Amino acid sequence: MPNYIIAIDGTAGCGKSTISRALANKIGFTYIKTGEMFRSITYKLIKEKVSLQDEEKLKQILNNLDLKFKYTKDRQISILDGEDITEELNSLIIDGIVSQVSSIDLVRKKVLDFEREAAKEYNIVMEGRDIGTVVFPDADAKIFLTSTIEERTKRRYIQSLESGITITQDEIMHNILFRDEIDMLKENGSLKKADDAIEIVNSNKTIDQVVEEIIKVLKDKGIQF
Ligand code: C5P
Repeated sequence: MPNYIIAIDGTAGCGKSTISRALANKIGFTYIKTGEMFRSITYKLIKEKVSLQDEEKLKQILNNLDLKFKYTKDRQISILDGEDITEELNSLIIDGIVSQVSSIDLVRKKVLDFEREAAKEYNIVMEGRDIGTVVFPDADAKIFLTSTIEERTKRRYIQSLESGITITQDEIMHNILFRDEIDMLKENGSLKKADDAIEIVNSNKTIDQVVEEIIKVLKDKGIQF
């Protein structure tokens, strides 16, 4: 039986990760967070002080990249140069440039390899921006999640407080809108709803309600879990 692919795309901070993880746990699929693939590469470029304009250096780094992902029940773990960097990936510095990094075609090609590799092994719930449009246009089910900017800001603000990051709600809102703008305008892999994706508005709903809504879509499509 071929592996199932559930694509979940949507804007920054709309609750994609929480919903995708909860869904994957509930149906016993592997949860894959593609944003962390871009974040891991961004971490490496910052660490090596690579200018995003320096194409030669970028090529060299990407060709020799020692980056692996482990997919556990609750978490995706990023191992860069033999070191677990997962906890480092949500810093404000990475937030600030990850969208520029993910606009580079060479970077997107590299991430595409990771994404397609993961799908060979498991039934997956994969979340990102272009999963239903570019990465897996033939995914078994496609969901596009949205939420109001106020809710997205509030959600990220609470997450930041929990992680001990000092930031104002205004800064968070600015950051989210800035990332969405770059993500929507990029030439390849831009943030957009696939024509055949089902849009779910994740406002004023509990996680369970949204997960149930998605499960209904999966059942209607005959996906077995
Ligand atoms: O999902 P998350 O917010 O962690 O993603 C970080 C960034 O990675 C996004 O703002 C976007 O620039 C990029 N990304 C992407 N395509 C994906 C997933 C993430 O370009 N499929």
